[in-house]
Amino acid sequence: MNSCIDFSQTPVTSVFGINSFSNAVMRERLPKNVFRELLEVQSGDKELTLEVAEVVAGAMKDWAIEKGATHYTHWFQPLTGLTAEKHESFIAPTAEGKVLMEFSGKELIKGEPDASSFPSGGLRATFEARGYTAWDTTSPAFLKQDPTGTTLCIPTAFVGYYGHALDKKVPLLKAMAAINRQAMRVLRALGNTASTRVISTMGPEQEYFLVDKALFDRRPDLLLTGRTVFGSMPAKGQEMEDHYYGAIKERVALFMRELNYELWKVGVAAKTQHNEVAPNQFELAPIYASSNVAADANQLVMETIQKVARRHGMEALLHEKPFAGVNGSGKHNNWSLATDDGLNLLEPGDDPSANARFLLFAAAVVAAVDRYATLIRSAAATAGNDHRLGANEAPPAIISIFFGSVLSDVLDALADGKAAASRGDLRMQLGVTSLPSLPLDLSDRNRTSPFAFTGNKFEFRMVGSSQSIATANTYLNTAVSQVLAEFADRLEAAADKAGTMQALIKEYYGRHRRVVFNGNGYAEDWVAEAARRGLPNIRSTVDALAVLVQPATVELFETHLVLTRAELESRYHIYLEKYSKQINIEAGVMIDMVRRQVFPAGTAFAGSLAQAAGSLAAIGAISAPQEKRAKRLAELLQESVDEADRLERVLAEAQETAGELARAKLFLDKVVPQMVALRARVDPLEKLVAKDAWPLPTYEDLLFRL
Ligand code: ADP
Ligand code: MG
Repeated sequence: MNSCIDFSQTPVTSVFGINSFSNAVMRERLPKNVFRELLEVQSGDKELTLEVAEVVAGAMKDWAIEKGATHYTHWFQPLTGLTAEKHESFIAPTAEGKVLMEFSGKELIKGEPDASSFPSGGLRATFEARGYTAWDTTSPAFLKQDPTGTTLCIPTAFVGYYGHALDKKVPLLKAMAAINRQAMRVLRALGNTASTRVISTMGPEQEYFLVDKALFDRRPDLLLTGRTVFGSMPAKGQEMEDHYYGAIKERVALFMRELNYELWKVGVAAKTQHNEVAPNQFELAPIYASSNVAADANQLVMETIQKVARRHGMEALLHEKPFAGVNGSGKHNNWSLATDDGLNLLEPGDDPSANARFLLFAAAVVAAVDRYATLIRSAAATAGNDHRLGANEAPPAIISIFFGSVLSDVLDALADGKAAASRGDLRMQLGVTSLPSLPLDLSDRNRTSPFAFTGNKFEFRMVGSSQSIATANTYLNTAVSQVLAEFADRLEAAADKAGTMQALIKEYYGRHRRVVFNGNGYAEDWVAEAARRGLPNIRSTVDALAVLVQPATVELFETHLVLTRAELESRYHIYLEKYSKQINIEAGVMIDMVRRQVFPAGTAFAGSLAQAAGSLAAIGAISAPQEKRAKRLAELLQESVDEADRLERVLAEAQETAGELARAKLFLDKVVPQMVALRARVDPLEKLVAKDAWPLPTYEDLLFRL
């Protein structure tokens, strides 16, 4: 257990951010002019100079060493979706055989990890292994502190020799710059002179499961793939709805307390925690931040959940679908747009002009989400998420927006050019001078929508629990940037701004409102209704990824300087490859578990039944039940072995298929269904073997024991 913190003696306020080299720390430790210049660099108004970096590096080093750091690392996010770090110690030898602790501006600004083993999707050949990490001044450096030591972590971008983005941060920063440019054009055209920057904000709700570590260790599938490839449901699942928001068990509460403190120390504002729907499923939500800082923080959240869980004898599962038969885990992405002077552009205000602005930005989101629905869908495309999207607990694979009936009525009335609409306390005049006034609590709740307006933000619910949120935010910001650019073009040219604004809402909302759906997204008839509306329903990762290399996507990302064609192609290849690799491992684990655990155990148990039947018959006792069970087991064993052999064959076929797309398709079309077929034999087998004779911890153990 962690000894660093005595919780009872440590007020949160004295812990929060102690291991974060935040702007507050920098304000204290940097000369005034340097700090001021750094702020300008952060907001994009100035280029970073080596002189400034030199001073910051010195202050950062002193701060880190005072807190016990011996090493630093450029902390980055390669396209694996994980984080990477290569530790360097601060030591520099002196002529007399001693060392000094040094850290230069150059070392702060730029690192050169050997990049050859990170996926580049063809952006660089292995012999051109060069990759560079570059300091991201907008995301605070932090200390990783645990019993093994203290390391200064510097959030960095990761680019190739020719400047290609090899990570998830560079495109996100560029997409944030794009939406800043376009949203500012719109605001200026509307007469706003006070705001100087628009920032995309993000608050991700992270779901995860906890399982007892000793049980986890006995499941090769959990160890190697993060999910159970076999397991039949116990008598109880989540049907009692007694876990959701239920009282948190003490063991879990102790874990959560330590998790919160660890996150608070590095400046991550962990805020909300609760039991989720499935047994042993939980959620953590931090207070939102800029998308970039939030994406870094979410990586830390995932890592810290896993680390702290182990200290408490548990393993955290971040996989999207660790257990069949109960809910999977997602990551709800709460997204909005804020100005530097405190306006939330997706929040209705209490004066007409704020409402008009809100409706304009809301219309932009609707248009972007409809026009780029397949792109946004692809942000949630992973092998793990294929189990969720379209399955009955998760939002379906169809992108739709929930607004609630009040707002939908307002927007519909605007689109239809109706003179007035009224609804309850809402009176709406659609004259140019008197824009609608909106009631405050606009939206009811809808848990089934993949893209729900929740009063002052949109909640994109498709993203998988193990994914980096950078991707979803990059796509979302870029898509909305395009529509805002079209708005800005029109507004800048218009003499009558208010009239143009209203025309834009009418035109864009009218054209794209088919994507708005306030009903039950889990209902069968929504699938048919969505098809009638022409909304795409892309169920598999392999199909969802295709959009990345389509001409309209390339044009979108190139126009807004977010990703080039080559960078998009590389991502397409990497994500397809990742899909294939993940299924490959899962199928391999299945075959291995059947042959080395299920088959021997099942055989031994069937044999003991047959033997018992013989002994019973010998004394003239009834032996039919034993014999019958032994026979049924033998049948299922035979079928399991056959299905495993078949899986081995299609797996070999997939492995030998050339080309990322063809290979991924084979995994999707042949390997995955064969995995399902195999599981359909093994799970009933489990139910016929004595619990003590079964070699794997069961769902009952994994889901209910903590
Ligand atoms: P809900 O009950 O709708 O899920 P919460 O208040 O619990 O809403 O917020 C969920 C997440 O949304 C939190 O991480 C919160 O910080 C975040 N959030 C709130 N406002 C915004 C915003 N303007 N932009 C982005 N995220 C936000
Ligand atoms: Mg929520």
